[in-house]
Amino acid sequence: MKTTLTGGSAVTPDHREIIGEGPRKGQQRDYVVLSADERAKGFVRPVRRAYRHLRCGTVTKMGQALAETYACDPEFYSGTFCCSCGSHFPVGQAGEFVWDGTSEKVGT
Ligand SMILES: [Zn+2]
Repeated sequence: MKTTLTGGSAVTPDHREIIGEGPRKGQQRDYVVLSADERAKGFVRPVRRAYRHLRCGTVTKMGQALAETYACDPEFYSGTFCCSCGSHFPVGQAGEFVWDGTSEKVGT
C-alpha cells in the first residue's frame, strides 16, 4: 500500500531520526502513514486520537493521519510513542497501550 509522511510528502530516509530536545523530544522526526488515497478507501476500526500507556497511565494524543492509518490497518505499526515516558514502546496484543477509555489494545 502507498505510504507518505504525516503531512503527505514522500517518505525520507531520515524520518526515523529521534529528536534530541524541545517539545517533541524523543519522537521521530516524522512518521510513515498510509497515503490519503489509501485512507479514503475506508476504515476497519473507529478513528481514535488518544491512547493510554499501561505502564505509566498517561494518555498520548496523535494526529489525524496517524489515527486514520490505525483505523485502516490496525497492525500497520509495531510501536508508538508515550509523551510521559518520552520513548516508543510496542503495540499489538502483547503491547503496552490501550485506546483511551477502553481495554482494547492499540495495534489489534
Ligand atoms: Zn508511558
